[in-house]
Amino acid sequence: MIDAPSNNHAPREAAIAHLVLHHTAQPLDVSLDLLRFGRVSAHYVVDVNGDIYRLVAEERVAWHAGLSWWGEARALNETSIGIEIVNMDGNVHDYPDAQREAVIGLCRGIFARHAGIAACNVVGHSDIAPKRKDDPGGRFFWRALAEAGVGLWPTPAPVTGSADVASLLAVLRHVGYPPPHRYGLRAGRFAYVEGGDEAGFSDIVDVGAADIIVAFQRRFRPARIDGRADAECLALARALDAAQARA
Ligand SMILES: [Zn+2]
Repeated sequence: MIDAPSNNHAPREAAIAHLVLHHTAQPLDVSLDLLRFGRVSAHYVVDVNGDIYRLVAEERVAWHAGLSWWGEARALNETSIGIEIVNMDGNVHDYPDAQREAVIGLCRGIFARHAGIAACNVVGHSDIAPKRKDDPGGRFFWRALAEAGVGLWPTPAPVTGSADVASLLAVLRHVGYPPPHRYGLRAGRFAYVEGGDEAGFSDIVDVGAADIIVAFQRRFRPARIDGRADAECLALARALDAAQARA
């Protein structure tokens, strides 16, 4: 563990309940510079060789999630620990073994230290900010992480019948994914458009059903990310929901 303190942190006013995983989309040196001296931060950065940098103490809030929504929680910086993993694009590049083992070890420690983090609250940035974010990407090792005891992986269920968007979205919402929504810039910051009130907003983005389904597929069925509701996705979503109920 290498101490590399960040300037960017704040006191915690809520209990720790989430673990959020990211890829940096930048090399190590640029990432450390941004996350220490820029306008963002994370608790940890994990390099490709497995070196772990500690930037912010877990008891403090770091600024990695931005506008975010999972279950009933919003603004997940307040309640999360964030890990940035050095990878230019986790949708394109695999995570090397040494890095993968370091991330799993780090997550296991965090999960053990914070009983308030439920298995269903181990999430990717793309889960909590669909369309806006696509990290840590379809190459991320969610299954290995779950098998190491951190987070959930759905046991494959028999695939039968067909699926419709409404059924799939209902299960995904129950699992934690946000419903379709809109967000935009207001006073220079991202915010959700609430109840159709667009006053003061610019650059409004529609996050539709397909975007929510893409986020789910990126994590649980990266072999085909097409934003369509199909029977396999519905079976996986139901299995995930069942695993959450058991956890
Ligand atoms: Zn991210």
